[in-house]
Formats: sequence, structure tokens, C-alpha cells
Amino acid sequence: MPALPQEFLKRMSELLGAEFRDFFTSYEQPRTNGLRVNTLKITPAALSARDLFALEPIPWAPDGFYYDYTAKPGQHPYHAAGVYYLQEPSAMAVVYYLDPQPGEWILDLAAAPGGKSTQIASRLMEQGLLWANEINPGRTRILAQNLDRWGASNIIVSNESPDRLAERLGPAFDRILLDAPCSGEGMFRKDPEAMNEWSPAQVRAAASRQSLILKSAVKLLKPGGRLVYSTCTFAPEENEEIILRFLESHPEFKPLSLPAPAAGLVQSPSLPSAVRLYPHKLRGEGHFIAVVERSGAEQTPEPHLALSQTASQTAGSSQLNKRTTSSSRRTSPSESGQLSHILTQYRIWAEEALTSEAGGRIPSDESNYTLFGPNLYLNPAPELPLSGLSILRPGLHLGTAKPGRFQPGQSLALTLSPSSARYYLSLGISEPRLKRFLHGESWEDSGPDGWVLVGVDEFPLGWAKRTKGQLKNHYPKDWRVR
Ligand code: SAM
Repeated sequence: MPALPQEFLKRMSELLGAEFRDFFTSYEQPRTNGLRVNTLKITPAALSARDLFALEPIPWAPDGFYYDYTAKPGQHPYHAAGVYYLQEPSAMAVVYYLDPQPGEWILDLAAAPGGKSTQIASRLMEQGLLWANEINPGRTRILAQNLDRWGASNIIVSNESPDRLAERLGPAFDRILLDAPCSGEGMFRKDPEAMNEWSPAQVRAAASRQSLILKSAVKLLKPGGRLVYSTCTFAPEENEEIILRFLESHPEFKPLSLPAPAAGLVQSPSLPSAVRLYPHKLRGEGHFIAVVERSGAEQTPEPHLALSQTASQTAGSSQLNKRTTSSSRRTSPSESGQLSHILTQYRIWAEEALTSEAGGRIPSDESNYTLFGPNLYLNPAPELPLSGLSILRPGLHLGTAKPGRFQPGQSLALTLSPSSARYYLSLGISEPRLKRFLHGESWEDSGPDGWVLVGVDEFPLGWAKRTKGQLKNHYPKDWRVR
């Protein structure tokens, strides 16, 4: 590992006093590796019992485990099926403080690559809304794919700046996570490259950016709502100082002290409602977490809800992820006709390919669906205005209308259970066809014609279509194992 920056060490020594030596020597220890179980698909105990690789519980994360990096769980088919997410152990503490409840509307404002978003999605248990936003376009695509793999049906993914989101949506959310871009001091052990980019000027630049993002974040929070601010850095300028200044200028907010989920998470000396995670105090990297709550009594503007709750978000012929210039508008007869037409195609497809257990994916009310071009989505929050925003996923992608047929979406496959598909092909870990499926190969397969949900054990991976004894692979190209 390269040498730690001198100015960083000097500040940490002032901050930690007698503890500094322990902190310093923690850099001689290897970094920690964690994976978090997707409780929408399996319980932590059940995954652990499968003995895929050695797992050891993480004290502050009931669904988290340490693993030995030589096991390479990122290459296991269970990872492709969204059964777990690889996440740095300390980062798993943040959502404990956010504490999302099923049915609530949650915003993850700086969400890529999606560690905390996937965790929030599991906590919501398919009820309510997770809006996952990321400002960087390339990182938003990774975020969307990670969330597709996770298999929750109540997620919107956007690629927006926080101020545009605030302008368009207003105070719509019960809880907001701002996992802010930072100087990354807490990740020096995990990512030694971050050390080369570090400088006091970088810390100052990060701090002013964080204050700006926070200003937008609060405009999106409902009265009585909770905001969690987190970073993976130790610099007080990016942590306590941001929150203390914020509380001074926002009397409608108060700090919220919560009990620590485990030993080793230490209270911040200058902000008792915040916690610091240090690599010499626990088996994890560096993190900072602060919780503030908005008072419920004040008068705040209403969230900016859409005018029409039918297919008002229909973007007509515009491409998904291109901004539409109009504000929310009423559905035109031709848009409404197009939605009805594509819905009929979808329902016919669903009748053939799904069972009654997939009922939640086929609501009868049209207002639950959103159309972007030929793509049909199940929208978890039709009352929110999507037009004018850059949206990658306006909900669960059910599929795409093609001439005379409906092609099911990859995202839909990952949300289904084996019994909700008419034909489910379960491939065991050591079954050669599993590798072939993940490589995108097709093969001969006797059986009735129709769409087949293919999975590893009981965890769906994607679609194949059986026609006249040939199983054609529909696993998307950018998901395939090369
Ligand atoms: N929450 C993520 C997770 O758990 O996987 C990690 C988020 S990372 C610490 C911070 C994110 O903020 C980055 O993806 C970065 O692209 C994004 N970001 C950078 N500048 C931003 C800005 N001005 N406004 C909002 N987000 C920004």
C-alpha cells in the first residue's frame, strides 16, 4: 500500500489523540469484504446453510456477512440472480439509521452503484417507493442494472442533478438518504488509488459540493421526514461541520440520536447524533453517518404531483432517458389508445406465460402502467410527475411491444418466483446448461412451446423461448458472462 498522505495523518493524529496508533496500524490489516443477502429472495440463515463459501455474520447488519475474497462470490451464478450484493461492511450500517418502513416513499439521492439502494429495496418489502437517483450517466446505468438484478418492483431510477429533482418533485419523500460524494479517506485501505487523488483542496471542494447537495435534498423531504447524511471519509469539514452548519440555518430540523446497532460504532464528539466508523474500532472501513429529522408542524409546499393519474407520464414517441420538455399533461387520446393496445398485448402474453401467482404484476387499473415508446412499465408511484426528468426506469420494465407480439422484460424475470411462471427451468449450480445460459447460448429442448423462465435453483436469471424443440436464449447481451 502506498504511504498515507502526511497532512491526512497529522489531522487524524489531532482528531484521535491516544487512539491514533491503533488507527495507523489498522492500515497494516487487509481490507474487509462483505456481502449482503437479498431478503426478498432468501433469508440470511438459509443462504448461509447452503455453504457456498465461508460466511461470518457482520455484527451491525443482520443480513450481512464477511466473506473470504478468494471465494470470488461476484462470479457465482447466485450473484447474477441478485441473491446477494457485494458491499463494504461499514457501508451496511447506513440503512439501519435510515430505517425505511414498508409503504414509505424513500429517495436515495446519490445512489450509484446501488449498495444502499438494494438494501433499502429489501427493507421496503415491495411496498412503497424507492426512487434511486444518480447524477453521473454511466454510473446510473450500472445502478439500474444492479437494481434490475435485485428484483424489486417498486423502484424508479433517474439520472438527475439534485436541484432539478427538487424543482420537479418538491417535498415528496418520507425519508431521504444522501450518501454524499466525498474525499474517500475511509476507503484508503480498500482503494489505495484514492490516496493519490487526496489533498486538502479536494476535501474543501467536496465539502462545498456536499453543502449544495444537502440544500436540494431538504427540499425533497416531507414534514416529519428523516434525512440521513453519510460519507466514507473522516474529514470533519465533510461531516460534522456540514451538519452543524445545516442545523444552524435550518431550525425546522433537529438532530436525531439513535442507539448504535453494535459495539464499535462511536458517537461523534462534536455531534452526538452522528456516528463514526473507524477501521481500528470494528472490522470495516471508515464511514460517517448523521441523522436529522424535519419537524412535522411547519407549513411546507405540497409535493408536485402529476395532473393526471392515467398514462400522463407517457412520453409519446420520445426515447426513454431523453427529457421531455412538457410538464405533466393530460393523456392524449392517441397515447391512451396506444397504452390500451400494448396493455392488451401484455395481458395476452401474461395469460400464456405467467400463473395466477404473478397477479401483482398484472394490475387491472391502467393508471398503474407507464409507457415510454414501446416499453411498458409498472409504475409504483403514478402520482409523481416524471416528464421533464431523465428517467432510466419509471418502475418495473414489464416488456416491449413488438409487431404482433410482446417481449417480456429482463427486469420482470428477476422479480418473479418459479411458481409464477408457467414454465420454469431450474438449473443447478453444477448443471452445464447453467453456464451455457449465462453465456447466451441456445439449445435443443423438448417441451411445449412458450416463454420459459430460466433460473439457477429457485432464483430466476432471465427468459428463453421454446419453439418447436429449440430453446432460444433471451438473456440480454450486456448481462452475459464473457
Ligand atoms: N450510495 C452509493 C452506494 O451505496 O452504492 C454510493 C454513492 S457514492 C458515495 C456518491 C455518488 O454521488 C457517486 O455515485 C457520484 O457520482 C455522485 N455524485 C457526484 N457528484 C454529485 C452531485 N453534485 N450531486 C449528486 N450526486 C453526485
